[in-house]
Amino acid sequence: TTVFVSGATGFIAQHIVKQLLEDGYKVVGSVRSQAKGEDLKSLISKAGLKADNFSYAIVEDIAAKGAFDEALKSNPEVTVFLHTASPFHFDVSDVKKQLLDPAVEGTTNALNAIKEYGKNIKRVVVTSSYAAITGFGQLAIPGKTVNEESWNPITEKQALADPQSGYIGSKTFAEREVWNFVEKSKPQWDISVVNPVWVFGPAAFEVKDKSKLNTSNEVVGGILKAGKDKSQPQQYTGYFIDVRDVAKAEIIAFEKQDAVGQRLILSSGPFTTEKVVEILKKDFKDLPLPTLDESKKPDFDKSESIIDNEKTKKILGFKFIGLEKSVDDTVSQLV
Ligand code: NDP
Repeated sequence: TTVFVSGATGFIAQHIVKQLLEDGYKVVGSVRSQAKGEDLKSLISKAGLKADNFSYAIVEDIAAKGAFDEALKSNPEVTVFLHTASPFHFDVSDVKKQLLDPAVEGTTNALNAIKEYGKNIKRVVVTSSYAAITGFGQLAIPGKTVNEESWNPITEKQALADPQSGYIGSKTFAEREVWNFVEKSKPQWDISVVNPVWVFGPAAFEVKDKSKLNTSNEVVGGILKAGKDKSQPQQYTGYFIDVRDVAKAEIIAFEKQDAVGQRLILSSGPFTTEKVVEILKKDFKDLPLPTLDESKKPDFDKSESIIDNEKTKKILGFKFIGLEKSVDDTVSQLV
């Protein structure tokens, strides 16, 4: 089986690629440039994995019309398509152009390419987000129980308000696009969607630049930085899942018949910055850590919906990694 992974250089995607290769799959990853493709190939080979089973296709910008056409035309052996590429950062000046369009157009381009050129593709898994499940920030629905059927009611107007809302909207609108596409064009392939909460955990391969982590790991990275600089980190609360579990779930999502047509909410449990600091104090005795400003503590009950993902857990059938291990493994790789 050959699996296509879009955005293969991403934090989550690198773990998917790694686990697929470990499981004996062949992998075609889309990357933005040859340099990024070669880099990833060398990391794979350095990790002792079968680099011969990995190849890359260059997709410079997923938002460009027909972005995935060539990649699929030249890899007709692909039978599984995992779509993970999507912008995840808040450093944007134009929410529509830099977040909404690449997320939505990127998804449409992937689905159209599969329809036109992916005649052998039987299974598609799209990485959506918990952001598509419920509201956040000013649009939060605190205390509401949400499950695999829930949808964030965010509108385009609300999404355009600021980069964070923009990211949340981008994931919601992109996932709506997926289900609309499936309903409209009744494709020959089966779809599953995964909706992870904040993803923590170590990088799959060696980290070259430890100063700049992917967006979700900045929750942990920000604490280390504040400890060193004797400053205050931004304090967060919400739910977390370990990146290794996300990758595992993405693979089960296409392997298991029970996952067909499902949305899978990937959440191990709640976290707060305070709890993460406590874990680090206990497990890394010499690490300089910040003393948190009590007045800036976020209130979980006033900002978070309540997750009921029993259905997901039953379909996946494995136990999620806990906060302590996830945080410890993240930090061990950085210090
Ligand atoms: P990363 O930023 O590490 O990965 C994103 C990947 O998408 C990168 O490979 C990036 O390429 C690629 N990409 C982004 N925009 C474009 C574009 N316009 N054209 C081509 N490639 C593009 O993030 P994560 O691994 O954390 O996220 C992966 C997926 O998981 C995303 O869909 C994200 O929304 C979703 N997700 C992540 C969560 C988290 O907490 N991390 C939680 C829930 C969902 P490059 O780096 O070269 O720009």
